[in-house]
This record gives sequence, structure tokens and C-alpha cells, in this order.
Amino acid sequence: MPTYAFRCPRCGEFEVRRPMAESACDATCPDCALPATRVFGAPALRGLDPTVRRALDAGARSAESPQVVTSVPGRSRRATPLSTDPRHARLPRP
Ligand SMILES: [Zn+2]
Repeated sequence: MPTYAFRCPRCGEFEVRRPMAESACDATCPDCALPATRVFGAPALRGLDPTVRRALDAGARSAESPQVVTSVPGRSRRATPLSTDPRHARLPRP
């Protein structure tokens, strides 16, 4: 169950654990019962797998400054042909 942050105008920030279906619902301050507004912050990335975190970082870097390439990354040619039929090799290529 995710934790959502709210800010009470009198007492400051507090957190509420609730189901995602109730994420848009208003909250009341547990100390003074005033209505509180939701506070949006960065997602908690502490528990992420390092591989996933590197992939997210690479995605963010790529979104801001994409790398210019001259060919498709990875293998340039397939090691094994898709078909062993020799007629397929004579088909026109793009
Ligand atoms: Zn309060």
C-alpha cells in the first residue's frame, strides 16, 4: 500500500498509507482535523534493483539528450538467417 504525503495548513506535512484507489481522496490532519492538501514529491527509489535504477537513469538521460547513432544499436547483422530457403535470399531488400 503506497504512502501519500499531505500538508496541513497549521501542523505541516504528514503521511497517510492508503490504497491507490483512494489516492485522490482528501485527507484530514490527524492532529487538528483540518482538511489537508496532497503534496507531490519524487518517487521513493531506495528499494529499486540497481539494474532497474540504471535503466531508469539511462531513460531519463536519453529523454533529455538523445544519443545520435548511425545504425541500429546491437548486432548489425543477424548471425543466423531467418530462413534456409535459398529463394528467400533473392527477394528484394529495402
Ligand atoms: Zn493539523
